[in-house]
Amino acid sequence: MTEAGVTSEPTDRSGAALISYVLPVYNEQDGIRRFNDELDAALAERPEYSYEIVYVNDGSSDATLSILHDLAKNDPRIRVIDFSRNFGHQIAITAGLDEATGDAVIIMDTDLQDPPRVSLQLIDEWRGGAEIVHARRRTRQDTLFKRATAHAYYRTMRNVFKVDIPLDTGDFRLLDRRVAEELRRFRERSRFVRGIVATMGFRQSEVAFDRDERFAGDTKYPLRKMAKLAIDGVTGFSTVPLRLITRLGFIVLMLSFVGIAYAVGMRIFLPDVTVSGWTMLMVAMLFLGGTQMLSIGVLGSYIGRTYTEAQARPLYIVRQVIHYDGD
Ligand code: UDP
Ligand code: MG
Repeated sequence: MTEAGVTSEPTDRSGAALISYVLPVYNEQDGIRRFNDELDAALAERPEYSYEIVYVNDGSSDATLSILHDLAKNDPRIRVIDFSRNFGHQIAITAGLDEATGDAVIIMDTDLQDPPRVSLQLIDEWRGGAEIVHARRRTRQDTLFKRATAHAYYRTMRNVFKVDIPLDTGDFRLLDRRVAEELRRFRERSRFVRGIVATMGFRQSEVAFDRDERFAGDTKYPLRKMAKLAIDGVTGFSTVPLRLITRLGFIVLMLSFVGIAYAVGMRIFLPDVTVSGWTMLMVAMLFLGGTQMLSIGVLGSYIGRTYTEAQARPLYIVRQVIHYDGD
């Protein structure tokens, strides 16, 4: 058992429990009010619990912050962590987790793609004894491209890299306080929170829901950010790509032996026929050059990761925490 595990008392799962919401927000001025309303309405259905609502403003450049400020003024349960700039979705989640003190912590998107009512089912499941509850998308409204790439990615993660992230889950999930405490001890910079959670153990369970379309605004995950998250998922959990380089080198070496045998054989048995060299040379050169550069790239991404981790800079910088007491 870990240090944190030893010190923590059993979680209070009774009606008196405190439930924390961790809510990353980035340029959601057109949807955030509506989100808060829906969350508020959902929470009213479970009045037995108390709640803590942690919005993390991830350096929004629109009116999001002033709206959040306004919401906090009218609701003492709300706490707003305001980042000094945009640090990214995964870091925003981390900051929220650092701040959350609840017996259970729920992470969800604030664009209404994760419906607030579904979080009540997560709470019920947790009350039943689960320590991690994944919200699984039964249907999604994303583009075909996003669905296809996500599908292929999760299957590759599972089969090649042995990180068993439940299919079709984003970061929408509930964590028991113990899990949240353990998760707080993972301090890597390039982080893939759902991958870390999947490899943590504990009693995991899931709830299926229908994912809605984004209520307002555009996705904050362009292809570039998605690719980075995908690569962090792989390099953060696996050194398989490094081992693949060795295998690749071995295959190329074998191929070159075949080529040598062919050239020598032609020379001995058919000395009158000249082996036409140009195409062969060109192909071999490009093939070798390509595989070498690719391999250097793989090495580079691991070295880059090592470098940024070695710098051990703070994960995020907070400008202010906004919180109004009841009176
Ligand atoms: N988000 C964030 N920082 C970012 C990008 C996104 O905090 O740099 C938040 C965003 O406000 C939303 C959630 O992360 O609540 C998921 O983002 P988005 O809906 O754009 O991703 P998608 O659902 O398209 O994958
Ligand atoms: Mg979204």
